[in-house]
Amino acid sequence: MKKNKFFYYAAAMVVLISVICLAIPFHDSLGKDNLSPSSIDDDLKRESPSQASALVRPFPDPDETHYKMELYLDIVSNLLYGRSSISTLNTTGSEMNELWFTIYPNAFQTPASTPAPAQAYYKGFNPGWLELDKVLVNGQEVEYYLDGISMHMVMPFDIMQDKDIIIDMSWRSRIPEIAYRFGSKDGVFMLGNFYPVLNVYDQEGWHLAYNSKFGDPFCFHCADYAVQVNIPEAYELVSTGSMIKKFAEDNGREIYSIEASKARDFCLLIIYDYQEIISEVHNITVKCYVPGGSRTDEAQKIAEQCGDILYYYSYRWGSYPYPDFKMAFVPMQGFHGMEYSGLIFLKEELFSPQFDSNRGSFILAHEVAHQWWYAMVGNDQINEPWLDEALANYSAYEYQEDCQGLTVMRKPTAASSKLDQQLNEMDSNSEYYQTIYNDGEAFWAALEGELGQDTTDRVLRLYLEDYKYDIATTHGLLEVIRKEAHQEMDSFLKKWF
Ligand SMILES: [Zn+2]
Repeated sequence: MKKNKFFYYAAAMVVLISVICLAIPFHDSLGKDNLSPSSIDDDLKRESPSQASALVRPFPDPDETHYKMELYLDIVSNLLYGRSSISTLNTTGSEMNELWFTIYPNAFQTPASTPAPAQAYYKGFNPGWLELDKVLVNGQEVEYYLDGISMHMVMPFDIMQDKDIIIDMSWRSRIPEIAYRFGSKDGVFMLGNFYPVLNVYDQEGWHLAYNSKFGDPFCFHCADYAVQVNIPEAYELVSTGSMIKKFAEDNGREIYSIEASKARDFCLLIIYDYQEIISEVHNITVKCYVPGGSRTDEAQKIAEQCGDILYYYSYRWGSYPYPDFKMAFVPMQGFHGMEYSGLIFLKEELFSPQFDSNRGSFILAHEVAHQWWYAMVGNDQINEPWLDEALANYSAYEYQEDCQGLTVMRKPTAASSKLDQQLNEMDSNSEYYQTIYNDGEAFWAALEGELGQDTTDRVLRLYLEDYKYDIATTHGLLEVIRKEAHQEMDSFLKKWF
């Protein structure tokens, strides 16, 4: 594996930390004794690649990566007990002796670290975390170091090119009692990014997550999932993928067996007293979940609209690939909506009759568009967050204009911007939204003005085809634009990058 300055630095820190760990009694409660100094975190950010270069094969390769998880939810303690077995191949082109993971629940450990806004804490501060009991790689126990929302595993052996890598972990995670994308409120467990996820490696290095107060600080490859979830029988479960079977235990609990293929992530929602409304639109099954007692006719209308949106994007850019689409209205603060593979969360308030219906349909169309620009075409949401968000906004406006006949007052008026900024280059949520969403959408509208809708659609169809179930880059997208434009594009593009 390519060793750069960072890896030598990290290796030196591992030795230093190991010495410290030998000097103090080891206990794995949150791995707090294993924490590295925050200066390492800063270096990780700087060393993260700004553009994923094309390796011959991605790592972890979506065609070779399988997550098996067994989960048990204890609703009294808000603990989720997990066992993960992740199998993949070393496709990096050289031997490997380290692995990095994202452990998002550890963002919620302290009031200073949490990305959730104050209004999400409906009963004061309430911590969330994930701690590991044991980690094995290819059957051997390995050292691991927790740092923020990253975990670094160091193997005392090399794994050769094309050889199997099997990582077994047992862990437990506390779900914070907050109205957030990772949290619980009123019998609703919203479990986005709840489990340890293997990070992406390419020839420029590891794409590491870091904790950010805004945006989605993630970069993941797609994988296949086989997940068993044990929950109290009074609850229902909604997730990425399809339920294969469900069986009851004789102790008032049920076990769900779920499989998902080529999913960018695996999201889980466990709900109490909800209604499921199913709509078949243009051969796409849409399932809408609303709290018990809600207006089912309204939920039916929203599910049908969602089917129309899926059909519109499928027709325009390429088909929706998953067996169904699920949407759930949940008690979530800080976001109007949140996208996962085959499943979106929408803030409960959007379902209220008082919520502006045009705004509601824009948010729905934006979140649905992420199935194309996030789930299918992935991107590094830390280094190039504009790639998925700008296209989700553009897609939503296109839907509203074409299908709802709305003359949309598109927010952005920018004639130029610097779109390819990293999440940590932006100082505030408002700067992030202006640049990534509004200016980003303005870029696509301007491109359509420059090239016409047919050519812009050809660009997007080719972009989807080239990067489906992979990770796109700005560089790769601009190549597609140049190829399809059949005209000189540099003077146009230089205004935006
Ligand atoms: Zn979005």
